Amino acid sequence: VKKQGKNGHQFYSPDLDVQLLENIGLESDLRKAIERNELVVYYQPQFHAQSNRMIGVEALVRWNHPTRGMLSPGVFIPIAEETGLIYEIGTWVLSEACRQMKKWHDEGGPLIPVSVNLSSHQFHQPNLVEYIVKILEETKLEPQYLELEITESMMMDPAVSISILEELNKIGTRISLDDFGTGYSSLSYLKKFPIHKLKIDRSFITDISENHNDKAIVATIISMAQHLKLDVIAEGIETKDQLDILTENDCHEIQGYYFSSPLSASEVEKTFFVPNRL
Ligand code: C2E
Ligand code: CA
Ligand code: CA
Ligand code: CA
Repeated sequence: VKKQGKNGHQFYSPDLDVQLLENIGLESDLRKAIERNELVVYYQPQFHAQSNRMIGVEALVRWNHPTRGMLSPGVFIPIAEETGLIYEIGTWVLSEACRQMKKWHDEGGPLIPVSVNLSSHQFHQPNLVEYIVKILEETKLEPQYLELEITESMMMDPAVSISILEELNKIGTRISLDDFGTGYSSLSYLKKFPIHKLKIDRSFITDISENHNDKAIVATIISMAQHLKLDVIAEGIETKDQLDILTENDCHEIQGYYFSSPLSASEVEKTFFVPNRL
């Protein structure tokens, strides 16, 4: 594989070649992964800090690869995006997450929404809204229980993004701005975008106990969200200390290993649903 060098020269890296070969292997495997039922959706519960009530789950895809074991989306989503397989995978994750949530609702589980990550490729797909409507109809999940997670980088063309977001709003799904604070979105657009929630990126949380700048940024995002009447959730909470700082600053919606890592659907039921109701 050739990589751009410092002064514009290309240099050759044997390590990257190995990487390339691995990716080629993964790519052809990935094509078969869906039909072979190797993809799985895990769910990470989100909590209201004071009441310990579960307020939602984020759907996070995994690939149970026959020889390599459980692969994280960081490994295969980029390949899916390069090859266009992301459309098929993204649609599958959406319908699987909606199906599971409807099943939980029907079986007496908590009436909470599921958040699904959209890749920028999906977001700009012309028939995005159409197939989300179709999935909602097929699974019979009420639209307010589907939250779509998008990132600031998808908002580069504000006119286009606003019209997509307005269409999604019209069908009744919720929109959350993921990894908030890491992109370059102009704050002036925040009030124009029809979004419901800001999700504070984990990178501001990791050192929040020691780093005053991170703490200041997080406090500012929370207060801005309040002024704009947006919900706000923090992700990547791992310690009690981090949790306390968030709640002291008035952010009460929490996602992170401190409460729970992402779990299979049956683990979610076993761990968090009231016994005998499912
Ligand atoms: P993300 O949307 O920012 O998801 C949060 C990631 O942080 C997840 O990694 C989750 O397991 C991890 N995480 C949660 N709590 C903690 C914590 O307390 N500490 C730490 N260190 N990590 C935590 P995961 O599942 O490996 O997903 C990585 C990324 O892959 C996601 O980042 C998302 O961008 C992407 N992804 C996952 N599922 C999908 C999908 O269905 N479609 C698309 N397009 N992207 C997906
Ligand atoms: Ca996310
Ligand atoms: Ca995130
Ligand atoms: Ca992230």
